[in-house]
Amino acid sequence: MNETVLHAEVLVLGGGPGGYSAAFRAADLGKQVVLIERYPVLGGVCLNVGCIPSKALLHAAQIIHEVDEFESHGISYGKPTLDLPKIKAWKESITKSLNDGLAGLVKQRKVTLIQGTGQFTSPDTLAVQTDEGVTTIRFDQAIIAAGSHPTKIPIFPHDDPRLWDSTDALELKEVPKKLLIVGGGIIGLEMATVYHALGSEISVVELMDQIIPGCDKDLVTPLFRRIKKQYKKIWLETRVTSIESHDEGLKVFFEGKGVPESEMFDAVLVAVGRRPNGKLISAELAGINVDEQGFIAVDKQQRTNVAHIFAIGDIVGNPMLAHKSVHEGKVAAEVIAGLKSEFDALTIPSVAYTDPEVTWMGLTENQAKQQGIEYDKAVFPWAASGRSLCLGRKEGLTKILCEKETGRLLGAGMVGPNAGELISEAILALEMGADAEDISLTIHPHPTLAETFGFAAEMITGTITDLYIKK
Ligand code: NAD
Repeated sequence: MNETVLHAEVLVLGGGPGGYSAAFRAADLGKQVVLIERYPVLGGVCLNVGCIPSKALLHAAQIIHEVDEFESHGISYGKPTLDLPKIKAWKESITKSLNDGLAGLVKQRKVTLIQGTGQFTSPDTLAVQTDEGVTTIRFDQAIIAAGSHPTKIPIFPHDDPRLWDSTDALELKEVPKKLLIVGGGIIGLEMATVYHALGSEISVVELMDQIIPGCDKDLVTPLFRRIKKQYKKIWLETRVTSIESHDEGLKVFFEGKGVPESEMFDAVLVAVGRRPNGKLISAELAGINVDEQGFIAVDKQQRTNVAHIFAIGDIVGNPMLAHKSVHEGKVAAEVIAGLKSEFDALTIPSVAYTDPEVTWMGLTENQAKQQGIEYDKAVFPWAASGRSLCLGRKEGLTKILCEKETGRLLGAGMVGPNAGELISEAILALEMGADAEDISLTIHPHPTLAETFGFAAEMITGTITDLYIKK
């Protein structure tokens, strides 16, 4: 086996959204960049086995549901026929087109891309195991963007192909008759949405007393009510104690109030969070501190305890979201290039692309209460939104929290179709320091779902006419 030695002004370990954004920003700022990625394509979990393929399948699910629901409004097409290989090919064509785009951007920016698995060998060197041998990179500065992997529950039978993680679920190999989702978080519920539309009978088991536990309960309730009718069971405050492999299926044992002792399923998706990859890169040989869980601590400039090594994305902490990682990647690249930059975003928004979508940003009401912050709250019901009714939906809500004394926006959340697109206005309002009056005096186009954000602000300023609120 050959050993090659290369030099990098900036080495980036990991080619997900955070890593490639960091590499591209550093290159644009004049640095000579080497980007290491273990897979043959860039884009990481998000593009290849996460955000993008799941959204393709969720769009397919949305079409199936909308067509189905329109039967009662006078349009029917009959039962859908599913061509799984074709759906899969369509999903993969989207991923490929974005992969190709990234490969083009690498070339345009003259970033050196090496495919292989990287491990630190000292504070200034990283060894990359490639198909041709080991390439050693001597670097001036480095950015670790090595991501995370799905949490496994050790006692489950991991050699059984009917026990899935999110990557397996996105492969769309089959549509199981009975699918159990372990974990009522974002991944679990997005995949439940997909497989329910494709025809699986869905059950969900969640440890906490609500689904999507990080979100205020009132925003999750419309989703909960809808899926409770669609799915066979949603067991809250319930734990899976063990899973047995049998010829006829996976026998799952539960512990909780009013739950069956066990039940048989054709497949089980485990979506109970993700673990950082901090322990998989020999960080200790570079002198980088990695905590018990595998996280690497960084300061506001994304710097680790080793001054010339930075870290970004899932590996530095929650929330594990692509948009957080991209932002951090740009900060790290800018600091390396000598710019005055730091991570000072006021909020990292969350979106569950379920049906209805659930989204929130800024302070949640739970956090405001815990922190003793005095706030005014408004919740605008989409049942009073003409646009929502035209979509055949009325369960949505738009909620805003404003500081009691100043009216300044503190937080906002929405639930309803397309809510994930609407939250951006709230994020911009928060970043710009807008108050309820600024939002209420902003003319929103009619009829749109975006209006509901303006209406919620009008509820706070007392100027709303689309609802009657008793003084
Ligand atoms: P999560 O943390 O969002 O949800 C996991 C859920 O599983 C939680 O509700 C938790 O209470 C529950 N849980 C934990 N252990 C359990 C157990 N033993 N039995 C039953 N329930 C259990 O994690 P996830 O859904 O796996 O997603 C992983 C990461 O990926 C998250 O950081 C998430 O934000 C991110 N992600 C984001 C999106 C998006 O932005 N749309 C989509 C997918 C994933």
